[in-house]
Amino acid sequence: SRAYASVEAPERTHGNLSDADRIFTNLYGRHDPFLKGAMARGDWYETKKLVELGADWIVNEMKASGLRGRGGAGFPSGLKWSFMPKVSDGRPSYLVVNADESEPGTCKDREIMRHDPHKLLEGCLIAGTAMRARAAYIYIRGEYVNERLALERALAEAYAAGFLGKDACGTGLDFDVNIHYGAGAYICGEETALIESLEGKQGKPRLKPPFPANVGLYGCPTTVTNVETVAVAPTILRRGPEWFASFGRKNNAGTKLFCISGHVNNPCTVEEEMSIPLKDLIEKHCGGVRGGWDNLLAVIPGGSSVPMITKDVCDDVLMDFDALKGVGSGLGTAAVIVMDKSTDVVDAIARLSYFYKHESCGQCTPCREGTSWIYNIMKRLVKGDARLEEVEMLQEITKQIEGHTICALGDAAAWPVQGLLKNFSPLIRERITASSDAKKIAA
Ligand code: NAD
Ligand code: SF4
Repeated sequence: SRAYASVEAPERTHGNLSDADRIFTNLYGRHDPFLKGAMARGDWYETKKLVELGADWIVNEMKASGLRGRGGAGFPSGLKWSFMPKVSDGRPSYLVVNADESEPGTCKDREIMRHDPHKLLEGCLIAGTAMRARAAYIYIRGEYVNERLALERALAEAYAAGFLGKDACGTGLDFDVNIHYGAGAYICGEETALIESLEGKQGKPRLKPPFPANVGLYGCPTTVTNVETVAVAPTILRRGPEWFASFGRKNNAGTKLFCISGHVNNPCTVEEEMSIPLKDLIEKHCGGVRGGWDNLLAVIPGGSSVPMITKDVCDDVLMDFDALKGVGSGLGTAAVIVMDKSTDVVDAIARLSYFYKHESCGQCTPCREGTSWIYNIMKRLVKGDARLEEVEMLQEITKQIEGHTICALGDAAAWPVQGLLKNFSPLIRERITASSDAKKIAA
């Protein structure tokens, strides 16, 4: 009955997280990532008690914490976990951890698996208990070889210590964790494509509904959830949901891993308070924008799938779901891609267009055809070698893709281009005009 997430956090400046309030205290790999070090950091501490408090208790605590999914979509985690059946109809339930981190700019789950793998494994037992599952699959991106090795070593330690497997943590319950390697397709990070791939088929997204909680892995109730979401669960339960909900703002609770790349002096992944101002995030943790804040051109604040925001918006915006939505972008994976004034922003977005064209699974026409059309026009725009009417045509193509595809990849291909057109159409038009003037002079 507690609902901390609905309690407005007091007015204050966000983003002064102290080390004591960080969950991932080995984020930079300064300490032992494996069992001895992990236990010294508090992992696997009285896990038995947490499991014995039961599925409903865990789900209610997660709801009260206000945690929203950390994979990009931000769906409320406790609510999502509660969709799993309370009474089995004979089918087993599965937890699937999405470790297929592939969104350009995003490298936060990688750090968890490298340096804090036991947080993820303990989280599997906790989240699996909440879902009444007896097995978890961790689907890890194929390119993450070192992370997979770290996770496998930690897994062997957890089994040897009796934390997983038969009578996990002495609870009388059996719980197995399996690690599955992906093979490098971005689309396999989409939850239903991931399920298909786990089943040994081509990674092609399924239509939703039915959602995986009804029909998931092998046709059984399944929850697919992100590494960070699962890894923070044990700490939330130990410290209490009110502790987690005290960070950030209403509807945007907690601490969060941000990965900042591009034109900053010190690119990094850092755990900070949700709702930290973007400017503070960059100045406190990344040594500022290369050449100073005034040299900033634009930022893609949530991984490549969200529209960019320009410097005037960056001056004040807070890094959370609602604030970024309010300025026409999104928090996504919280991967902050910083572009200074030296950036050819048209070329940068053209590069992303190539990525989405390449990664489209080809199943639906608007995405399969539209991503190629976008890329072809973008290539011409980079050189100014396009017709002025193609600028409008490009916008129209993105609108024909957006909302008309099976999965979110179509939207993800459309939104960065829409962000470019919204903010830089004059630049694009100038480039076309200059190029056609140059051609006339040459002729
Ligand atoms: P989504 O909004 O469709 O779903 C979010 C989650 O909530 C899913 O697990 C879904 O099953 C569940 N859900 C939503 N509505 C439900 C309902 N009515 N009943 C039951 N369950 C329901 O988003 P998505 O397609 O899962 O994710 C898109 C996001 O993924 C993008 O915004 C992007 O930021 C992110 N992304 C991340 C990466 C990465 O590497 N981490 C890569 C690509 C995209
Ligand atoms: Fe495949 Fe693209 Fe359709 Fe997703 S939107 S199912 S990636 S074709």
